Amino acid sequence: MGLMTGKKGIIFGVANDKSIAWGIAQQLREAGAELAFTYLNEALEKRVRPLAESLDAKIILPCDVQNEEEMVAVFSELEKQWGKIDFVVHAIAFANREDLKHPFSQTSREGFRIALDISAYSLVSMTRCALPVLKPGGSIVTLTYLGSVRAVPQYNVMGVAKAALESSVRYLAAELGESGIRVNAVSAGPIKTLAASGIASFKEKLRVAEERAPLKRLVTQDDVGKATLYLLSDLATGVTGEIHYVDGGFNFAAG
Ligand code: NAD
Repeated sequence: MGLMTGKKGIIFGVANDKSIAWGIAQQLREAGAELAFTYLNEALEKRVRPLAESLDAKIILPCDVQNEEEMVAVFSELEKQWGKIDFVVHAIAFANREDLKHPFSQTSREGFRIALDISAYSLVSMTRCALPVLKPGGSIVTLTYLGSVRAVPQYNVMGVAKAALESSVRYLAAELGESGIRVNAVSAGPIKTLAASGIASFKEKLRVAEERAPLKRLVTQDDVGKATLYLLSDLATGVTGEIHYVDGGFNFAAG
């Protein structure tokens, strides 16, 4: 019997085998969870489908979080095939590359809107769509980064989006606690992924994190996967509204 045996849930945000969502999926499956996946578009479907099938997933659906109809369709399909679900993983973020290159004051209105819409509002709309199918005791986890609370060089509009995301976690957790639904975030240290490649001087972030983090190493997709597994499991039944750092201790280390 695994920690997640008998539990079913959906993972948004696998793009390839370097995705943090993929690290989470592997941990959840190993713990016995039954998984459904979404992919952003046809180009990514080619990568996501074989990965999802390798973890015995039967439900693999398209979902651009900017498209409310697609999101509604995902959860009604889950209800049709599974009835109720136990968890949702939101591992999605996007900002225009030029908005991450320019000084922060040059962020365009449209670039600001897109970053906040895809990276923060999507947690709110996803939770709304998930509510009718989430069991009491259900759990939602999203992914965030230290740039929400510190002005991390070049993280710019993404930091503002993560601040909105973390605040949304607290408001959702406050609202849904009564229904027995928990909402938390994992704040991961820097990891080389497709999304991270859009951030200027990302290599420097990796170097500094490795040097300054008390654990003296970078965190991995597996590290984040294990912490997410904990938050989604019944080990964390008393935990909600929390920003859980998985960054080797970098966030509190001096210097
Ligand atoms: P990734 O590129 O593998 O994942 C990002 C995902 O977002 C992709 O699957 C992409 O398809 C999806 N996405 C983008 N726009 C979308 C849209 N409109 N609709 C649906 N999906 C969309 O990169 P990742 O680093 O694994 O990112 C996952 C999460 O982890 C993000 O929230 C990211 O900010 C967060 N995070 C990453 C790091 C890091 O250093 N890599 C650190 C902390 C937090």
